[in-house]
Parts: sequence; structure tokens; C-alpha cells
Amino acid sequence: MITRIVNAQEGLDEAVSLIKNGELVVFPTETVYGLGANAYDGEAVRKIFEAKGRPQDNPLIVHIASVSDAEKVACDIPDVFYALAEKFMPGALTVVLPKSDLIPDVVTAGGNTVAVRMPDNAVARELISRSFPIAAPSANRSKHVSPTSAAHVYDDLNGRVPLILDGGECEVGIESTVLDLTSGSPVILRPGAVTAEMLAPYLGITPGSGKVIGTAKSPGMKYEHYAPTAEAYAAEDAARAAEFYDRCVQEGKRPVLLFTDCHAAELGARERISLGADVDDFMHSVYSALRTAEKTYDVIIVEALKGEGRAASVMNRVMKAVGGKTV
Ligand code: AMP
Ligand code: MG
Repeated sequence: MITRIVNAQEGLDEAVSLIKNGELVVFPTETVYGLGANAYDGEAVRKIFEAKGRPQDNPLIVHIASVSDAEKVACDIPDVFYALAEKFMPGALTVVLPKSDLIPDVVTAGGNTVAVRMPDNAVARELISRSFPIAAPSANRSKHVSPTSAAHVYDDLNGRVPLILDGGECEVGIESTVLDLTSGSPVILRPGAVTAEMLAPYLGITPGSGKVIGTAKSPGMKYEHYAPTAEAYAAEDAARAAEFYDRCVQEGKRPVLLFTDCHAAELGARERISLGADVDDFMHSVYSALRTAEKTYDVIIVEALKGEGRAASVMNRVMKAVGGKTV
């Protein structure tokens, strides 16, 4: 199969036809690129699992173009969903709801719940509104780092998908927050740019009340996602990272540091890929930096951010990328 990369706006008509014909389309979102198919068409959705090499027991997120679309793909929707939608949709929040009968089992890995998200990308929403709700995981080969540019997708899926809509770099840079509303009290299954602190007021939870949003594991989180092909470590301390780097050099390896600019002076002339100036820059650029690093270097040393909220969300992904290894 020939894979073409086309400007997102210019390729939109063709993408709509492909989705309507039960084919795959890669499309940009603000989180990471998605590999989509008509969410109502089980045969089309099966192609996603094939193209990615994704285990069948890992369910997909269904992408919608408007809040009212949620009623097509889910049922028994609680009021709190609408409160959250008003504030966070479109955006980097996925909500798990009871699934409607229209959604085939292959989308939900046989479960009776469906994950729903409205992406904050105009082309993505137009693609959906002109075709169907679109089931889509991240557009990487299973177990690799999620793609935040069309070139990343091409590296992983060339020859496996007909069309990649190129919408430039994803602004957010890591996958959405997944919030489960189907299990009594709200539970965050996967942390992301939308944090527990941001969600709490809309869930009727006041800080300091003792009531908190629970955390649990998303079905997909058991897999070693996000891993680069080179050996990788996290480092809480720039001085220790520099020491480890120097030892790698002595051993004849080629290391690289993925650090924010505030550590530039400490790290000196050692090779570094910048993760920008703050947490949001770090989130935006870390996947791209991992993909760049694995092509040229033997050892990747990533800055470990401290703190709650977005820092903790992005560290959730970094710790997966480094397989829990620290220096
Ligand atoms: P990806 O889009 O590749 O990041 O994968 C989608 C993520 O959403 C995975 O971690 C899934 O486990 C999670 N997910 C999708 N559907 C559900 C669901 N019905 N219940 C819980 N988690 C889900
Ligand atoms: Mg993924």
C-alpha cells in the first residue's frame, strides 16, 4: 500500500471518502495523531489493530464532533458528563461512559463501556461531522512512542495506511486524560494535560473536603507503551545525569540528555535535546525528542520533573518510556 502525506485541509474530502468506505485515515489532534476508522464499522476498526499490531484487548477511544454525538455512541449519560463537556470539550479529556448498541465489540474490547473524546482540532472535527464518529488510538506501531507529527506517523505506518492528514505539530503532545464515570465514583484511568485538580470542581469535589478523584489502571496501561528503541533512563538530578553521561562516553557509547533549558548551564557542552522552558513545553516536545534521540544516540537520559498535576502526568509517560529505569 502506498502511504501519502497530504495537508490536512487539502486532504479532507479524500479522508471523508476513505472513512465512509471503511478505510483507515490518520488525522491530527491536539494531543497526538490518531489512526481512525468508522466507529460503527467493526470490519473497518479491525484494520486499526492490524496496522498498529495492537492487542485486541486494548479498547479504542471514539472521537466525536459535538457534545450531542455522545448520545449516539454512549447511553445513560450522567449529568456530570455535560458539566465536564461544557468546560473541557473540545479538549484533552476522554470520558468513559456506558456504550450504546451501535458501537461494535471490537471498539470496546468486548466491554460494555466506551471512551469518548472531542478533539480540539477543526480538521478532525470536520472529518467526523462529515462521516461518522471515529474510533482511533494513537497512530504509532504498538509499543512505540506516540506520534506528534505526520513524519513520526510515516516512520511507523508507511505502507500500512493509505492517507496521513498533516496538521503540523500536536500542541499538547501527550495522550488525553481518561476519566471513568461508570464505576460509582469518578476515576482517572490515565493522567494527562487535564488534571484531577482541574476536574474536581466539575465533579462536585472541593479541595480539602477529603473527597478525591480515584486513580486506577486503564486496560491499555498494562502494556509497555511509549518506549523508544534506544536504552533510556530518567534523572531527577542534573549533576547525576551529567556524571552518568560522562561514564557512557568513557564506555564508548553515545549518550544524549533530554532536559529543559533551566539546566543548560549545569550540563555544559554535553549533547542535549531541549525540552523547552516549562512543563507545557516539556509535554509538547518530549515524544518528538525521544524519537529524534533514538535515531542517533545509544543512551537517552530524560529529566525527571517533580511535582503534581501536569508534571506528574508527563512523568507517567517518561517512566514508561524509560521502563522505570533511573540514574
Ligand atoms: P490510545 O488512544 O492508543 O492512547 O489508547 C486509548 C486508551 O484509552 C487506552 O489506554 C485504553 O485502555 C483507554 N480506553 C479506551 N476505551 C476504554 C474503556 N472503555 N474503558 C477504559 N479505558 C479505555
Ligand atoms: Mg497509544
